[in-house]
Amino acid sequence: MTKQSYFKNQVWLECASCGHRTHFDRPVTNCEKCGGEWIDARYDYNAVEQAWPDALQNRPFDMWRYRELMPLRDDVHKVTMGEGGTPLLHATNLSLMLGAPHVYFKDERQGPTGSFKDRQASLAISVMKELGITEAVVASTGNVAISYSAYSALAGIKMWTFLTSLVPPEKMHEVALYGSEVIKVTATYDHTKKVAADFANRKGIYQDRGIRGISAREAMKTLAFEIAEQLPPQLDPANTPWRTPDWYIQAVSGGMGPVGVWKAFEEMVTLGLVDRMPKLACIQAAGCAPMVQSFEKGLEEAEPILNPQTRVITIATGSPGPAYNYLSRVIREHGGAFEAVTDEETFRAMHVMAKLDGVSMEPAAATAFAGLFKLISKGVIKRDEVIVVNCSGHTFPVEKHLLGDEWARTVEVPQDLPKTQETVKAESRPTEGLLGSLEQLDEHVQSIAIIEDDPQARLLLRRILQTRGDYRVFEAADGAAGIEIVRQEHPDIILLDLMMPGVDGFEVLESLKADETTSDVPVIVISAKELTQDERERLSGQIDKLMQKGNFTDEELLEEILKRAA
Ligand SMILES: *Cc1c(COP(=O)(O)O)cnc(C)c1O
Ligand SMILES: [Zn+2]
Repeated sequence: MTKQSYFKNQVWLECASCGHRTHFDRPVTNCEKCGGEWIDARYDYNAVEQAWPDALQNRPFDMWRYRELMPLRDDVHKVTMGEGGTPLLHATNLSLMLGAPHVYFKDERQGPTGSFKDRQASLAISVMKELGITEAVVASTGNVAISYSAYSALAGIKMWTFLTSLVPPEKMHEVALYGSEVIKVTATYDHTKKVAADFANRKGIYQDRGIRGISAREAMKTLAFEIAEQLPPQLDPANTPWRTPDWYIQAVSGGMGPVGVWKAFEEMVTLGLVDRMPKLACIQAAGCAPMVQSFEKGLEEAEPILNPQTRVITIATGSPGPAYNYLSRVIREHGGAFEAVTDEETFRAMHVMAKLDGVSMEPAAATAFAGLFKLISKGVIKRDEVIVVNCSGHTFPVEKHLLGDEWARTVEVPQDLPKTQETVKAESRPTEGLLGSLEQLDEHVQSIAIIEDDPQARLLLRRILQTRGDYRVFEAADGAAGIEIVRQEHPDIILLDLMMPGVDGFEVLESLKADETTSDVPVIVISAKELTQDERERLSGQIDKLMQKGNFTDEELLEEILKRAA
């Protein structure tokens, strides 16, 4: 082994209620002075201000590069598998579709167990190891149990996981595979937490405190540090070393993600690394949205939802705990939003992200994207703002209900194939029978003409249509070519852009409507801008539907097209 000097850190605990400070050298649940239960980790910020960002230059891009602001005292206890350091990706096609050019997502699917809980697990298990804990209890809606189990396997800590029986069986299997005890509780997650706490108390086993503990919030800070380092400099006019997005959007249950992100930006402002705070958008499932509802009612304390009604189990936390007090204060004082989306909206967002940008995610992550769509269409998020969505977890075996009945087509291959080995080799090409059955797939194809001068927009529309399979798409890059294509191909429907150089959309429309061979083809006009009264009058009676560019999600467009082209 090479000789290595391990990093050691000074960590203090500070009570949020009375400010009482202690050294962090044993598990602490409440402030010893006032009993307060919100306790923050504090560090030697002066030393960090001297060191950062230069000291970070030669460190690997993983979450431990922010070591000085993490509550582990001695690196010798670090339990790591390369967590954090996930890419911040530009949502290219989604940005086009929304007409919002600066949509980024933090790809937390790329953590060792496929969710952003890996940050929490790595730090929490490291701290447990440092505190000498050999056995622990954790309650979970799935991902925490998976991640804690993986890291505790590595650390040699025995893990008792309490899961609500609503957690998909595949997730439970993975927990068991890592060697954890799996206790299925046939109740809501909130009840499961109580059962876990009772068990831990009775057996005298250390219980992970989730958002009430230090590790979870401190680990989630690393998300924000990374985002601030990764955002392209040209997006932030401030001349600071790192950058702040306008929005951080996350699907929220217990809320430790946004709480950690907020604390990290406060620390970055203290250190002079950025000069402002982002706005937080906390998205919940409509069937279990205690934070959203409590905020709408102006409540200081969250009112729990006793009977969650959502299929998005990962975030079905009815009792939000102390994060609500914290986040509602932040959002009241600094702007931001609590928003609820239905499960249907979540599943639709899942389709949109998979089909448009090739990003397949679990429903809880898609809830954040559904929230983004909603907040943009409500005008809460402006289209020119810099948006970072936490793509918090990877798809587990896709639940069948998401795809509907027609997700695959079966091709029946004729059974009269030759029998002997040699002839099988010689004729292992598709037979005529096979080609014949493939042709069946081409029945009922609709044809669509896209008349649009922006090649990216054409590509996007084509992509949106092709995700449904059965369309033949003709493209024209200007008005004159568009008229030509419609005359020749007589498509079932036309998607027409208005603003084009040369023959514009208005003229295309007039010309097509004046010709009786084309006047009956339905036209959906797609416009990049708000139309004037005058322009609206020119279109009235001539078109079947007006769609605002960036204002539609693919399902809405498809529904319109399906309706008209049928
Ligand atoms: C835990 C989790 C959330 C919710 O995170 P909190 O910040 O604890 O509310 C969202 N998405 C996924 C995939 C999760 O695992
Ligand atoms: Zn106190």
